[in-house]
Amino acid sequence: MLSIVIPIYNEEGLINDLVDRTVAALEKFTTDYEIIFVDDGSRDKSLKNLLLHQDKNSKIKVLALSGNFGHQAAFTAGLEYSTGDLVGMMDGDLQDPPELFEEMYRKIIEEGYDIISGKRSGRKGKNSRNLYTFLFHLLFRNVTAIQNMENTGNFSLMRREAVDALLTMKEKIRYLPGLRAFIGFKQGYVDYIRDERFDGDPKMDLSKLFRLAADAIFAFSRFPIRLCLYMGMFGTIVFMFAGLYVIIAKIAGFAIIGWSSTMLSIYFLGSIQLISIGIVGEYVYRIYKESQNRPLYFVKKFHDGKLVK
Ligand code: UDP
Ligand code: MG
Repeated sequence: MLSIVIPIYNEEGLINDLVDRTVAALEKFTTDYEIIFVDDGSRDKSLKNLLLHQDKNSKIKVLALSGNFGHQAAFTAGLEYSTGDLVGMMDGDLQDPPELFEEMYRKIIEEGYDIISGKRSGRKGKNSRNLYTFLFHLLFRNVTAIQNMENTGNFSLMRREAVDALLTMKEKIRYLPGLRAFIGFKQGYVDYIRDERFDGDPKMDLSKLFRLAADAIFAFSRFPIRLCLYMGMFGTIVFMFAGLYVIIAKIAGFAIIGWSSTMLSIYFLGSIQLISIGIVGEYVYRIYKESQNRPLYFVKKFHDGKLVK
């Protein structure tokens, strides 16, 4: 069986097209499937729309979360409730074409892959988000040991073994594309052009997007804490020479008690220290979040078609 997990947050305008396109795409190559829509606490008619579709098609299941926990948590919830031997993840805004699941499926069945991720060979539309994504992947590639994650997102299809491996990682602050690249297995890719959003505004606003990028970097790299060390080393070297100069100037008797140099060193050292404290603070925050050990999400109701609504 094939399970497809799709997180939904305030997407009422595109639910109908999303359901129709996904169902049509899957039924081209299998009848044994389930689509798990995870409603991440939508405030519009998304949940109602989804339940209407479920009434008509029992292969559609709706996992209603009790609030908005973010799309990484929503994906995780869907993966945990999925029962398929193959499990796919796809955004709910039709930026990832569901028609591609057929190719992913064939690659896994016929070529023996465990995980196939969609690799974005390009993007339609021009906006600043594409630039941010490009910069993020550039940084991520250079500061982490994770290989081959570049230009992949959540869009993927995995064998059950890989999904189970993914779900053994219980960290609260999570970046699934990174974790998926981290677990090993035989990984393959299919190239695609990422569409523009079908309807509505992005539900990951810029602050959510930047937080996700920071979570990814902090989780897979020690670059941030190293940065403190590098800045400290740089400062030390600069001030060794500056110190030498001061001593020589004193001995040689041409020391001028300078205002500018004093001010500059205060600013320079002060900012290095503040940045370092900020970075250490990010780690403390992350340790705190993990140690709280709160559940990633709460479920209001799992509409799996079996229970009376
Ligand atoms: N989403 C979600 N919870 C959130 C934000 C987004 O479940 O808090 C869903 C959203 O409905 C969409 C998917 O996650 O199906 C990706 O969101 P979006 O398109 O805004 O992200 P982007 O394409 O910018 O990464
Ligand atoms: Mg999107």
